[in-house]
Order: sequence, then structure tokens, then C-alpha cells
Amino acid sequence: MDLTLSKAHQDIQHKAREFVDQVLVNYELECEVNDGLSRESLETINQAVMGWELNALNHSKENGGQGYSIFEQMLVDEQLGRVTGAIWDTVFRPSYPMKNATPAQKEEYLIPTCQGRRRDCYAITEADAGSDPTQCLTRADRIDGGYRINGEKWFVTVGDVADYILVHAHVDGDPANPAVFFVDKNLPGVELKRTPLYTHHFCYKHPEYIFNNVEVGADKLLGKEGQGYELTKDWFVEARLGIAARCIGGATRALEDANEFAANRIQFGQPIRNFQAIEFMLADMAVEIMAAKSMLYRVCAEIDAGQDRKLNHAKVAAVKLYCSEMVGRVCDKAVQILGGRGYMRENAVERLWRDTRVDRIWEGTSEIQRVIIGGQIKKRGLEIYTGW
Ligand SMILES: Cc1cc2nc3c(=O)[nH]c(=O)nc-3n(C[C@H](O)[C@H](O)[C@H](O)COP(=O)(O)OP(=O)(O)OC[C@H]3O[C@@H](n4cnc5c(N)ncnc54)[C@H](O)[C@@H]3O)c2cc1C
Repeated sequence: MDLTLSKAHQDIQHKAREFVDQVLVNYELECEVNDGLSRESLETINQAVMGWELNALNHSKENGGQGYSIFEQMLVDEQLGRVTGAIWDTVFRPSYPMKNATPAQKEEYLIPTCQGRRRDCYAITEADAGSDPTQCLTRADRIDGGYRINGEKWFVTVGDVADYILVHAHVDGDPANPAVFFVDKNLPGVELKRTPLYTHHFCYKHPEYIFNNVEVGADKLLGKEGQGYELTKDWFVEARLGIAARCIGGATRALEDANEFAANRIQFGQPIRNFQAIEFMLADMAVEIMAAKSMLYRVCAEIDAGQDRKLNHAKVAAVKLYCSEMVGRVCDKAVQILGGRGYMRENAVERLWRDTRVDRIWEGTSEIQRVIIGGQIKKRGLEIYTGW
């Protein structure tokens, strides 16, 4: 078994790192101070993403993307996770379920989105439908030639700049008939409700939207009626791996900063790394990252090798759970090693510590990942995780 990265993989890793260091990192403090980035900054980054050919890594070249494998995407995500303020999200990746778009939908939505001319966002969560999306109250009632959508969506990430929303709704209010619709934001009845503030400073917002008798044609249905959860599950696999990879990148940067600080900070006449309390924290951080990375790389390689879709879902839950909890532990130690400086927003470890808290919540909380893993153990036996 050859576990070394190929030259092509190293080139991808290197390019992503260069992009982070030369482009994205320059926007971190703007994002922190202004709780977001200006339209001009976002446009400049958008052009850079296109210029560096990092757009739509997850979609085929035929559809205007870069056609990266899961493993290759993960190598990029890992580097993107180094940047604070979620500026990684400017390296746009149109929602994966859009690969099921019809040729006309590809022309109208997917291709321009892959080319940075349009932007999507994905709205599932509602006030009473979070971990349990079957409680979704947004409905799409069949009308002549299409659907009439009514409901309210929360936490719509990128909803401020996106020009269309992929809306998860129940056809005729029937939870057994979930579906996803392309909804242009400028349609009559699409209303911005409010834009709450969050713990992190994110380069985009997470607004809430109301859909008030929004009429869409039958051609706006993505995939088929009844496919809503299947499409969303595909999105979860990709999104959870992205989170896991970024957690590793964020943890690595936090460790590098803590390691450097520990070497240079003198107290009691010597570098603080000479104190075993500090050295042991650095050791634990390094081991945690090594373990997380081994897990992530192997699962991504298995997915690219054509592993069964159900096993992907089961294993990705474990990877997301471990990596998101790992980054919390690592960043917390990094803050501790930097002492008072670790609590200053101008230092990356403070921002990483704050930014990565959400990774245990979105795309399925840690509890929900455990529910998935526990269910898989019951159904398939422990071997899926331990006989690996
Ligand atoms: C910054 C941010 C951005 C987001 N972006 C998007 C987006 O773009 N699109 C979108 O659709 N959603 C988005 N979300 C929503 C996110 O996916 C949900 O917040 C998440 O799924 C949890 O749902 P909830 O907040 O309703 O919590 P709840 O489901 O109400 O959970 C509350 C608590 O109960 C626990 N819990 C619930 N059920 C169980 C169970 N069966 N067993 C054990 N514990 C349980 C949870 O783990 C949690 O601790 C975003 C959220 C945030 C914070």
C-alpha cells in the first residue's frame, strides 16, 4: 500500500497553500474588523479564484468546474482551513446536488455558478426543523405548470450575496414527498426576514428568508419529487468532508503559531516550551492532527475508489465528528499557550478558536454524527469502524 502523496497531489496542496498565503490571508483583518468583506473585496477574490483555477473544484470541466476528485478537493480544503473569517468560502463550490440538474438548469444555474457569475445557497433548516429536517414546514403546493412555495428558512449561509436559493420543501406539505427547488431571489414573494449576528465573523452572512406564495415553474424542480433527502444527503457527505479537512488546516495553523510562540516567549528566564506543561500540550496537539489526517485521507481515498454510498455516509460521520472535536481541543490549547495574547482577536489562534466552534454544530451536530455512527454499529456491526 503506497501512502505517499503523488507529485500531482503535492502540486495541488502547494497551489492551495500559495493561494491562501498570497491572496486570502490578506483579507482576514478586514473581515474581523468589519464582520464581513466588502463587495469590492469579494469581487477581487472571485476573480483571483477564477484566475488560479480553484473555482467549482467539485463539478466537471464540462459544467465549467475543475473536476477534482474527493481526495484532491480535500487537499485544497485542508489548506483553506488555515484562513480565518471563513474566507475559504470565497473559493466557491456550487452545491453538489446540482449535478442532477437538467441540461436547461445547467445552462441557467450550474454553469454560470461554476464560472463565478452566479452564486447559490442551500436552505433546509427552519425554526422547528434543525437536526430533524422532516419537521420542515416549507411546502411547495402543486399549481398549474409548477409550484407555489410558502415557508421560512433560517441560517441561509451566503444568502446575502447568492442570487438564487436551493429550497428544500415538502410537496403539498407531505413529508414523504420532499423536493428541492431553484428559487431566484428576485422572484415576487422572496423576502429577507433578518440577518442575525453570530459568534464568528464570517465573510458572508446567514440571513433568514420568507417565501410568501412564491411561484416557480415545474422546470425549477431539481431531480425528482420525493428525492429531497437523497439530494441533501449527497450534500452532507461533501460538506462534512470539507469541514473535516478545514478543521485539520485550522488546527495545523494554530499548532504552528503555538509552537513558534512557545519557542520565543521567555518567562522565568527560558522559553516556555522548556516547561513540560507546554511541551506536552504541543505533543498532544500534533498527535491529534496526525490521527485526524490519517482518518480523513483514508476515507477520501476509499470514496474515490468507489466505496458504497451508504458506507461513505457512515464513515464520513465519524470523520466529521472526530475532526470537528479535535480542532476545538487543539485551538483551546493554542489559546492557552499564547496566554493573554491567545485571547486577542488580532491573533489567528483566537479567531480559529472562535471560528471552529460552529464545526460541531452545522452540517449535523456532534450528537447527530454519534446518532448516525451508533445506528450504523447496530445495523452493520462494529467492523465498519474497527475492522478497518
Ligand atoms: C453559522 C451557521 C450556518 C448554517 N448554515 C446553514 C445553511 O446554509 N443551510 C441550512 O439549511 N442550515 C444551515 N445551518 C443550520 C445547521 O445545520 C443547524 O443549526 C444544525 O443542523 C442544528 O440544528 P438546530 O440548530 O436546529 O439544533 P437542534 O436540532 O434544535 O438541536 C439542539 C441540540 O439538541 C441536540 N439534538 C437534537 N436531536 C438530537 C438527537 N436525536 N440526539 C441527541 N441530541 C440531539 C443537538 O445536537 C443540539 O445539541 C447553519 C447553522 C449555523 C450555526
